[in-house]
Amino acid sequence: MNHDDLNHWSKRAADWTRDYYRTLRDRPVRARTAPGDIARQLPKSAPEQPEPMKDIFADFEAIVPDGMTHWQHPRFFAYFPANAAPASILAEQLTAAMAAQAMLWQTSPAASEIEGVMVDWLRDALGLATHFRGTIHDSATTATLCAILTMRERALNWQGNETGLSGAPRLRIYASDQTHSSIDKSARIAGIGQDNICRIPTDDSLSMQPEALNRAINLDKSNNYLPTGIILSIGGTSVGGSDNLAPLIKVAKHHDLYTHVDAAWAGSAMICPELRGLWAGVDGADSVVFNPHKWLGAQFDCSVQFLADPAPQVRTLSLRPDYLATLEHNDVPNFNEWTVPLGRRFRALKLWFLLRAYGLEGLRERIRNHITWATELRDEIAALPGFEIITEPRLSLFTFRFESDAQTEALLTRINDDGRIYLSQTRHDGHFVIRVQVGQFDCTRDDVMTVATVLRELSNG
Ligand code: PLP
Repeated sequence: MNHDDLNHWSKRAADWTRDYYRTLRDRPVRARTAPGDIARQLPKSAPEQPEPMKDIFADFEAIVPDGMTHWQHPRFFAYFPANAAPASILAEQLTAAMAAQAMLWQTSPAASEIEGVMVDWLRDALGLATHFRGTIHDSATTATLCAILTMRERALNWQGNETGLSGAPRLRIYASDQTHSSIDKSARIAGIGQDNICRIPTDDSLSMQPEALNRAINLDKSNNYLPTGIILSIGGTSVGGSDNLAPLIKVAKHHDLYTHVDAAWAGSAMICPELRGLWAGVDGADSVVFNPHKWLGAQFDCSVQFLADPAPQVRTLSLRPDYLATLEHNDVPNFNEWTVPLGRRFRALKLWFLLRAYGLEGLRERIRNHITWATELRDEIAALPGFEIITEPRLSLFTFRFESDAQTEALLTRINDDGRIYLSQTRHDGHFVIRVQVGQFDCTRDDVMTVATVLRELSNG
């Protein structure tokens, strides 16, 4: 295949893309395949000789789409969305075409500089204070890992990276039980250990209690443990729980602890000024992450981390071997020094396209609609016989239950086998509950109300 062939097949792929999106509503949202179904259709080893693209494309059409769960389906209400607005898909195509590696400023100046400007645009769009700067990672997990490594190094007076953790005091992190498992994973990788995440009790609104946080830190200090930092949650994955940031950050500052706010999903909603009360006090945080690849519409992967002061994170993560020296330009940000991997994709382009093609007002309108429709759907479900709302809508996420745990689980299986909608589950207060989040980029009010129709039909007998 050469670049003329690429041109031909790119047009074919563009046609396929248009048709895929036109017919998406007719597909079952969740893949209807059993484990092994797809692998069985592929040869056991790679071909020795080139094959015609016509055959490769035909196999793609025959095998892949039916084996996919359709995250861009307008009736995808499971997990959190991973929206891919058309403008961001276009940018990703251009990124793929240039196939640059944006590890240093000089390896892709446009990628680095557009990244800096996009982070600033988003900081202002979210109403964050102007002292924040930032970078774009692949995932919130990476951003959180970076923050936890920074907490660790700061608490160890920057010695952990040099001498390792053996002989170090027991390091501690504080968080509620509403935080995402990426915090646990990061604590494992950072050598802090999952057992050293001290879970602070929450109040009725699912926020950590500041007095309990303060007590836990004091207790750890009296045991000669070493507190490192606090992970705060805005819009937790399970039921959307949020910490009340201002008083918790005050406790952190009192103990000189680093703070990281995980707003992976809910952060996008902060483009709506009327919703920003949810994270009041965020300007006092050291680090904030949100995923434009969730609700905002930037195609996966795209996770933005804002830093009140990038220096501690850069000090924790940067290495400058001779072969990476930038020689004549020493005053430019080399974003690999702000993160874990050296190699980096040009992720900022899709943000540039997204923000310009829809405008902040266009993106706000979608998010406001999603929240309104989620509330309307909540009322419809509450009125159905046998259904109980378990957690009220937080932004556009709520949970419900049908009769018993066993009945709820059986209903969820029937719903997802049916295919018109896709929902997922969690546990809340010990009960199996079904989550609904409204957030798909192209969904309409009718799509959302289909959830009630499906529940009505499938819960009857
Ligand atoms: N934090 C929260 C609140 C999440 O909901 C998720 C994923 O859904 C994550 C972190 C992890 O995100 P990522 O897949 O970008 O690592």
